[in-house]
Amino acid sequence: MSPDNTNMSLDITSHPGRPGPDELVPSRYALRIGEIDVLVVSDGVLPLPTATLATNVDTAVLTAWLDDLLLPPDVFEWALNVVVVRSGGRTILIDAGIGAEYPDFPRAGQLAQRLDAAGIDLASVTDVVATHLHMDHVGGLLADGVKNRLRPDLRVHVAAAEVKFWASPDFSHTSMPSPMPDVLRSVAQRFLNEYHSMLRPFEEEYEVAPGVVVCRTGGHTPGHSVVRLASGGDRLTFAGDAVFPVGFDHPDWHNGFEHDPEEAARVRVRLLRELAATGELMVATHLSFPSVGRVAVAGDVFRWIPAFWDY
Ligand SMILES: [Zn+2]
Repeated sequence: MSPDNTNMSLDITSHPGRPGPDELVPSRYALRIGEIDVLVVSDGVLPLPTATLATNVDTAVLTAWLDDLLLPPDVFEWALNVVVVRSGGRTILIDAGIGAEYPDFPRAGQLAQRLDAAGIDLASVTDVVATHLHMDHVGGLLADGVKNRLRPDLRVHVAAAEVKFWASPDFSHTSMPSPMPDVLRSVAQRFLNEYHSMLRPFEEEYEVAPGVVVCRTGGHTPGHSVVRLASGGDRLTFAGDAVFPVGFDHPDWHNGFEHDPEEAARVRVRLLRELAATGELMVATHLSFPSVGRVAVAGDVFRWIPAFWDY
């Protein structure tokens, strides 16, 4: 354990309520999909300018939407969810939170401590699925002390299109606060360097473990992928960044982090229609924790129906 980690655990014991075994809100939610164990873990919260929620509508329209939800007009707090799945003897980490990659987000980057608190040893993780290579999804794997706790035969699944994209990423259709594009670019490239030998790129889809299939959707990034879980008649889709909190009321609003916003909107509508038809559960990275619920059709748009807490 590095000196930093030692300090951190001392810090935790002296501050009940902070990430660690005695955290006031454990920020994890467990459920089962047939034979598959699923644990949603919160990496924390990312406050971002609201303008990133809708880059193709007037500010007044966005402000009215926020006002209807009693939310402030300037900053939107994005949840940041990560999922751990156990199936067929494999332990799969789906995304990894932001780590320490961006100084403006001190309330995020909690994954390692929260996995520890949940009794999940990083050394037990056999597979990582990266839905895409934005820093809020892979930064946690670059945090101090994480890689050397992971097993050397770890498999990291990411779409081949995503790996290719980050060699020379196109930000011309995005609308992000600076210096985010530069940071996203450097984090993705650092991740690809650090985890190069463990990468298992797939083309369109890959079955990581029984009933756990990662499927490329594109849109948000060219290799953006979702993870479909199916076992014993139960189903759950981890939608990654295909759906944001505004995406039910306004699936056609472009998000500032989408590299191909028009394709991202098509992907979102297709996925939401499908999930509404199947009635299966959905979890998405940036929906309010624990982000477990179902999708309904509401006229031309959609409605998010959170699952009832069942503990
Ligand atoms: Zn994201």
